[in-house]
Amino acid sequence: MAEMPVRSGRFTILGAGVVGLCCAAFLQRDGHEVTLVDRAEPGTGTSFGNAGLIHIDAMTPIATPGVVRRIPRMLLDPTGPLVVRWRYLHRIAPWLVRFAWAARKSSVENISIALASLLDRSDEAWRILIREAGAEDIWRETGELHVYRRKEAWEAAQESHALRRRRGARLEDLTVAEMRQLEPALTRDLHAGVYSPGASSVTHPLHLSQRLVELIRRRGGTFVRENVTGIEAGAAGRVRLVGDGGAREADSLVIAAGAFSRPFARAAGSSVPLDTERGYHLWLPRPGVEMRRPIVVGDHFFAIVPMTGGVRLAGTAELAGLDLPPYWGRADILGDLAKPFVPDLRLDAAERWMGHRPALPDSLPVIGRAPGHRDVFFAFGHGHLGLTMAAVTGRLIADLAGGRTPPMDMAPFAAERF
Ligand SMILES: Cc1cc2nc3c(=O)[nH]c(=O)nc-3n(C[C@H](O)[C@H](O)[C@H](O)COP(=O)(O)OP(=O)(O)OC[C@H]3O[C@@H](n4cnc5c(N)ncnc54)[C@H](O)[C@@H]3O)c2cc1C
Repeated sequence: MAEMPVRSGRFTILGAGVVGLCCAAFLQRDGHEVTLVDRAEPGTGTSFGNAGLIHIDAMTPIATPGVVRRIPRMLLDPTGPLVVRWRYLHRIAPWLVRFAWAARKSSVENISIALASLLDRSDEAWRILIREAGAEDIWRETGELHVYRRKEAWEAAQESHALRRRRGARLEDLTVAEMRQLEPALTRDLHAGVYSPGASSVTHPLHLSQRLVELIRRRGGTFVRENVTGIEAGAAGRVRLVGDGGAREADSLVIAAGAFSRPFARAAGSSVPLDTERGYHLWLPRPGVEMRRPIVVGDHFFAIVPMTGGVRLAGTAELAGLDLPPYWGRADILGDLAKPFVPDLRLDAAERWMGHRPALPDSLPVIGRAPGHRDVFFAFGHGHLGLTMAAVTGRLIADLAGGRTPPMDMAPFAAERF
C-alpha cells in the first residue's frame, strides 16, 4: 500500500511533540492541511527535556549482548545508567524478553543497518525544516565529543565504535590534549575520547519546537488543545478521535503521541510492544563555566550540554512505565557524575526533570501506515533518537501519504514486525 496516496489531504496529527511537528511541517510542504491535537503545549512533553543532540552517528541499538549481561546488576543499582524498577518488573518482563532477543549479534547488525538508513538522512531532512523555519540560530554544528575517564569503559565502548564505523560513522580517536582543545572546560584527568565531527546540536529543544509551531501556523496549520481518550471507526472509512471535548472526524491521521501511542495504535489494529525508557535531566542555570560544545560522558552514558540559559546534564534510562513517580535521585546523581569531567561546573539552583522516551525493544521506531488503513499512519517509538530522527520521520510520512516510494526499505520500521 506504500505507493498509494491518501484519499484526503486533511490531516489530523495526534501529538505535537517534535515528531508530530515534523510530520505536520513535511505534510504541509506537499500541500496537505494539518491540525495538531495535543493535551499540552507543543513541544513540552519528552521533546522538551532532551539533550538536544542530533546523534547522526548513533547506529548502535540499546540492546547489545553486553547490556543484556548486565540486566541482573541493573536490578540492584538504582543510580546506574540503565535501571529496572522492581515495582515495574512484572509489567516490563515481556518487553525485556524481546529486548534480550534483539540483542543477539545478528540482530544487532541488522538493527544498526536500519538505524543507519534513518540516521544517514536525518541531517538533510532537518536542514530543510531549519531553513524553512528560519531556525539557523538554534542549530549548531558542534560535533559530539565522547569522553572516557576509565580505561575499562573505553575498552567496553570499542565494540560499539567499531559497529558504528562499519555503518559509515565518522569517529575520530583523540588524545587528551586534542579533547581539551575542543572543549577547554574538560578535566585533564581523562583516559581517551572520540569525536563525531558531523553531529550537530540545538541551543534548546523547546525553542526548536516553537519555531516549528510558528512555521506550521504560518502555512495555515492549526493547533487544538485536547486530551484524546480514544480513536474509533468513523463514517465512510474515516477515523474518529474521541477526546474530553467530544469527537472529531479525521480524514487522514498520524499517531505521534510518543510513549503514549500504544492504546491508539491498538485501536488502529496494531499491538506494538511500546513501553518507555524514562530519562532525567538536571538543569544548571548558573553553571559557572563557558562550554563550547556537548560532551557525552562515555563512562556513564549521559551528556553535558551547553544550552541557551544554562547547562543541561541529560540521560539515563529507567524502565518504570508511564505512571510511577519520578525517582529524583537519578537526576541528582548526574551532578555528582559530571563534576569530575567538568571540574568548574556549579550545581547550585539545579532544576530536575523527568520524561518518557517512547521505547520499542529493538530500538527502532514505528514509521509507516497502520496495517490495513490507507489513511492512518504511525510515527512513534523513537527512543533515544527522537530529536535526531524527527525530521526524517516527517519526510517519510509525507512520502507515504503522497504515494511516493520512500528512498529506503521501510520494513524494519513496520508495526507488523512484532
Ligand atoms: C533525558 C533524555 C535525553 C534525550 N536526549 C536526546 C538527544 O540528545 N537526541 C535525540 O535525538 N533524542 C533524545 N532523547 C529522545 C527524544 O527526546 C524523544 O525520542 C522525543 O522527544 C520523542 O518525541 P515525540 O514527539 O515522539 O514524543 P513527545 O515529545 O512526548 O510528544 C508526544 C506528545 O503527545 C501528546 N499526547 C500524549 N498522549 C496524548 C493524549 N492522550 N491526548 C493528547 N495528546 C497526547 C503529549 O502531550 C506530547 O506533547 C532524549 C530523551 C530523554 C528523556
